[in-house]
Amino acid sequence: MNVEIINTGSELMLGFVLNTHQQWLCRQLADLGHPVSRQVAVPDTGAAIQTAVKEALARTELIIVTGGLGPTSDDLTRDLIAKLFEKKLHYDATVLQNIETFFAKRGRPMPPNTAVQALVPEGALVLANAHGTAPGLVLEFVPPTSNANAPGLLVMLPGPPRELRPMFANQVVPLLRKKFPLTAGFVCHTFKTTGLGESLIQDEIAQPLKQLTDAGLEIGYCARVGEVDVRLVASGSRAEQIVTDAGTIVRSRIGRHIFSEGGETLETVVVRLLTERRQTLALAESCTGGHIANRITNVPGASAVLWAGLVTYSNESKQNLLGVRAETLAAHGAVSEPTAREMAEGARRISGADYALSVTGIAGPAGGTEAKPVGTVFIALASVDGAKVLQSVNGYDRETFKFVTSQQALEMLRRTILLSAATTKD
Ligand code: ATP
Ligand code: MG
Repeated sequence: MNVEIINTGSELMLGFVLNTHQQWLCRQLADLGHPVSRQVAVPDTGAAIQTAVKEALARTELIIVTGGLGPTSDDLTRDLIAKLFEKKLHYDATVLQNIETFFAKRGRPMPPNTAVQALVPEGALVLANAHGTAPGLVLEFVPPTSNANAPGLLVMLPGPPRELRPMFANQVVPLLRKKFPLTAGFVCHTFKTTGLGESLIQDEIAQPLKQLTDAGLEIGYCARVGEVDVRLVASGSRAEQIVTDAGTIVRSRIGRHIFSEGGETLETVVVRLLTERRQTLALAESCTGGHIANRITNVPGASAVLWAGLVTYSNESKQNLLGVRAETLAAHGAVSEPTAREMAEGARRISGADYALSVTGIAGPAGGTEAKPVGTVFIALASVDGAKVLQSVNGYDRETFKFVTSQQALEMLRRTILLSAATTKD
């Protein structure tokens, strides 16, 4: 089956907005067993959108168009596609009601122009928008294979990611499963790992998986800063068995580097582990400037585990807030193993938390020495078993440095939690 994505939006062409729909939708569709064959982004002009849709109709069974369903003058998608399909638009009472409720709930008057979002092309299926006002729309068409029993689908989705993603996951995925059932089995399983580069991972797993790759297993590596995804894919009647066997081998080879198999982020895993154990965390950050706290607090439910995150950037704050000793700073400097250790121990002492993480390092570009080059960082973790310190050299730009360092700190915490006896507090 041919699948095509058309992302509309002049902001994408001008570089103001990164086209995250492209990546996100391609991932979702690949996981469903319908990898995208072509994707294109076009500006918000009638001609560009119409040309892109016309071309797609001639070679595709499934077309997903994003953006341009809103109420402003640059939102043309609904109108243009209705014209192209020669379908009249009519006001849908349920959609109109939803839009009115959306504004009423927020105590805001409904701007009159938002009513255009209740216009629906004849015969279109409406996808309710749980997080905004513009509904998604689905139209059937006769695909080039012209199999009347299996019409093609054109799906229009709203531009804002927080509206598009739940709509796709909750409404489009079930529709695609029904309309385009897979004839052959398809299984895709992803491991999220950290602490090993992609080529080292390949060295570990490629040979042991050889028999299965010969039998049709595909291995994909997706390396990002601080983490690598390992994807196992198989299709056909033996797909399930092949991926299950491959998963067992991958776990046995690189298991301790795998932090999730269901797509969870590292911070989500850490918050979950702490919550399950009813344990708490305190943070004392210097060079990461609160980045670890930011990641932790992005996870719903973080308040149950995070005591506080202190950004102790100056020597005075390390002394006054965490009790780092002046002699330690004088003898070893702020970026040193003893300072990191005293920061973590101090944070644990003042908070009473089960774990305290600290980081101190040289983000650069200035401040490096021969003994401590730019990127040098000490990460300490204090727990009931005492404090341990990890030293690393993360020579990146400042933002990447913060992410990589936070990744190492969270991974150190994850492994320590898993290793510690499963103590629970009542
Ligand atoms: P609205 O009602 O907000 O106007 P819409 O369906 O008309 O929604 P657009 O106007 O195209 O959608 O986009 C709304 C916002 O959604 C954009 O300003 C942008 O921030 C975001 N957005 C749109 N397309 C993409 C994309 N491909 N990737 C990431 N973000 C996007
Ligand atoms: Mg818009």
